[in-house]
Amino acid sequence: MGKKEILEKFSADPDRYYKVKLFDEKGFERKSCTTCHRYFWTVDEKRTNCPDHSDDTYSFIGNPPTKKRFDYTQAWKEVESFFVKNGHASVSRYPVVCRWRDDLYFTIASIVDFQRVMGSKVVFEFPANPLVVPQTCLRFKDLENVGVTGKHFSSFCMIGQHSIPNDHGYWKDQCIDLDYRLVTEQFGIDKNEVVFVEDVWEGGGSFGSSLEFFVKGLELGNAVFTEFQGDLSNYKTLDQKIIDMGAGLERFAWITMGTPTAYDCCFGPITGNLVQQAGIDVNPELLVRYFTEIAKNLERFGDLSEVRKTAIKSAGISEEQIRKIITPLEGIYLIVDHIRTLIFAISDGALPSNVGGGYNLRIMLRRIISTMNRLGLKFDMNEIIDTQIDYLKKTYPELEKTRKDVKTIIEIESSRYYSSKERMQKIVSSLKQKPTVDDLIRLYESDGVTPDYLKEMKVISEIPSTFYTKLSELHQSKKAEKQEHLPLEGLPETELLYYDKDPREFDAKVLKSFDKYVVLDRTSFYARGGGQEPDHGKIAGFDVVDVNKHGNIIVHELKGGIPKEGETVSCVVDSKRREGVTKHHTSTHILNSSSRNVLGSWVWQHSAFKEEDHARLDITHHSVLTDDEVAKIEELANAKIKENIPVTIQNFDRGTAEQKYGFRIYQGGIVPVKSVRIVSIADFDIEACGGTHVKSTKDVELIKITRTKRIQDGVVRLEFVAGKAAQEYVKTHEVELAKASVEQAAKEQRDKLREKRKEQAREKIPVLLEQISQTSEGKIDEISVSGGKFYSTTGDQYDEYFHINFGEKLVKTNPRAVYCGIFEEKGTVRAIIHAGEEASREKKAGDIAKAVSQILGGSGGGNPRFAQGGGPDKSKKDEAINKAKSMVLE
Ligand SMILES: [Zn+2]
Ligand SMILES: [Zn+2]
Repeated sequence: MGKKEILEKFSADPDRYYKVKLFDEKGFERKSCTTCHRYFWTVDEKRTNCPDHSDDTYSFIGNPPTKKRFDYTQAWKEVESFFVKNGHASVSRYPVVCRWRDDLYFTIASIVDFQRVMGSKVVFEFPANPLVVPQTCLRFKDLENVGVTGKHFSSFCMIGQHSIPNDHGYWKDQCIDLDYRLVTEQFGIDKNEVVFVEDVWEGGGSFGSSLEFFVKGLELGNAVFTEFQGDLSNYKTLDQKIIDMGAGLERFAWITMGTPTAYDCCFGPITGNLVQQAGIDVNPELLVRYFTEIAKNLERFGDLSEVRKTAIKSAGISEEQIRKIITPLEGIYLIVDHIRTLIFAISDGALPSNVGGGYNLRIMLRRIISTMNRLGLKFDMNEIIDTQIDYLKKTYPELEKTRKDVKTIIEIESSRYYSSKERMQKIVSSLKQKPTVDDLIRLYESDGVTPDYLKEMKVISEIPSTFYTKLSELHQSKKAEKQEHLPLEGLPETELLYYDKDPREFDAKVLKSFDKYVVLDRTSFYARGGGQEPDHGKIAGFDVVDVNKHGNIIVHELKGGIPKEGETVSCVVDSKRREGVTKHHTSTHILNSSSRNVLGSWVWQHSAFKEEDHARLDITHHSVLTDDEVAKIEELANAKIKENIPVTIQNFDRGTAEQKYGFRIYQGGIVPVKSVRIVSIADFDIEACGGTHVKSTKDVELIKITRTKRIQDGVVRLEFVAGKAAQEYVKTHEVELAKASVEQAAKEQRDKLREKRKEQAREKIPVLLEQISQTSEGKIDEISVSGGKFYSTTGDQYDEYFHINFGEKLVKTNPRAVYCGIFEEKGTVRAIIHAGEEASREKKAGDIAKAVSQILGGSGGGNPRFAQGGGPDKSKKDEAINKAKSMVLE
């Protein structure tokens, strides 16, 4: 069943599927587009074409159809107040990382907020009815359009208007009436401009009619009426019909502002700031002309470079104007868009990596850096993040809390990119022919080489439009694990004793036994789940070696034989094993929250494993853990044990638990049932969990982290022992632990010295700057000056911190200056180059670093203003300085 067939069927009976009360009341007429024959509804007698084929398409650019102007923040306030005034609850956005669905990494539409998976079925759970939500959605398949088309974003705010028709909610008539009034009354758009186009929606086994609404060719929203289940030849009406109206907030802002692109009015002051910093001489009239053409041609061509070429031609734009205005603007739009997406994703706990959804984040950051390098833009990433959060927090106040964490992650990820560049350069230079799309995917997946980098290196001129679509398809959803199929049909669900009285000895009836498996009517044997290993013990005298859940039936695996069906058997759970596993399980919760407190908000449980005498917890974190971090995590965990905090367990309705505790409860993944079991260690750690737990943290006795390692990009493993196993570990490792603490002390000593040097540098830099600014030839404190513009030092009193900070300040005071600092670190020679604004026009810091590094036997690079490099050859330090000097003074 395709969309086309459904649309044909529905449009054949418009009174049944499309005609709403409003159309009668206001005199909307149904017409068929003279170009594409699509059906649309309008009050404008003269209108003959659908919005895609009208003359007024995109004429709002430069000439908005409203009296009032609303930017992104104000537009939401207008939408929110309208719906609240009309009986809707305004719900806060849900995380962009979709923790409640295991088939999606990111939230891609507002309706996803309310979808929960139960077995193979998707059900809807609304916290209120009707409601409206400003849901940030992430979509990566149109990445090549971002910055170029004027309206594509990698993340956008979907205004979600949702209703279930019942005593509280409404259906089609009221939905369209509200949307019409939102556009005409609240935003003040003339009724002649509003066009509703007939369409359909289908997905996940259900479908329904939909009405898209447009103003001047711009689709503002789409009201989907999810009504049927099945396929066209055989379907029935859903028990729970749903209104799913999604509208782009960015578009509401854009139509009232009439700016050349939606990017100009949706990022607060940052776009304007960057345009100014880049020194682009913007010509508003030219931009209006160009972006109107872009918008008009988007529907005509599948290929983006065709769209661009055609727009350039019909807007009459010169090569120079493209180079000086359009291309850098596209770059700035891309940068602000991508940073906004990273802010949301990182704030909600996602990390750039080479696996899963992290792929998309890494590729975006690399696009940002490549774009800046390609266009020679030197923006301060932290400043962009700050300005964006200052603006966004008017709608999303929660972003304030993670401001620092966002900066940390972006900084780490950027430096990782720079350090991998050398390897990428080698790979690129070995390419024999122009890479295909599959080559591009392989280059990125196995070597981390992004197509933007290839564009920066001029290996390809355009990124093929299918690249991002293919990549995002590869990484959109996770795969479900398959379980062995056992003949369990017709058996009732097993009564679980371990959630109730939890007896260690009990009698039960054998409902089924086959091969080595036994199913009982009730059991106190914990089945493997949530990373907790199963109970062992005896059933009818046979050893229980494994216990697994198949749906709601518990299957015991025995060794040595099995009892007969219908028999009543006596069962004994191995208490010692259970106790050990339980202590390790509660310890996992304690360590998880300790890690997040010590490391940062991005820490989530990735997976866990709890055995009788050891356990492991895999957390999401960007780097290898330092000894210091491990010590701090362990210390905090043991402090929580000492506090003797009660561990409480309560059952909640899933929606209530989410509203009360947030999505942090899903540390162990999604919960596919309606009632969730919340395990709380006061407010230190609150998780939805089905495992067994101690009564109070003191029962855990002690936690010892025995080893940590990075198991994949973005995931770190903590191996640990708790309870008796921890006590024993301490006994056998006393000597080693003592030695480790001596090493720890030495390291602290080194850290202190480094801090002290920093402190000294901070005091010294301003004084030195003052003195050296009055010298044009000579030497002060080991820093040589030549020709009033070349400054260098190889003095060993200076370290990295000094060179970076001194150099930066120096070239700021003297824009003609170049600074070259050479120093030894960990047995190699390093070079740091800064070039002032004026100096960098003639001599790029990156080129100098390259030349200097070559002499030192290594490699280096960077941008025109700042670069670094180095090599192993300590005897060539002076020669390196002389080379830099001659490059600057020649
Ligand atoms: Zn048409
Ligand atoms: Zn748990």
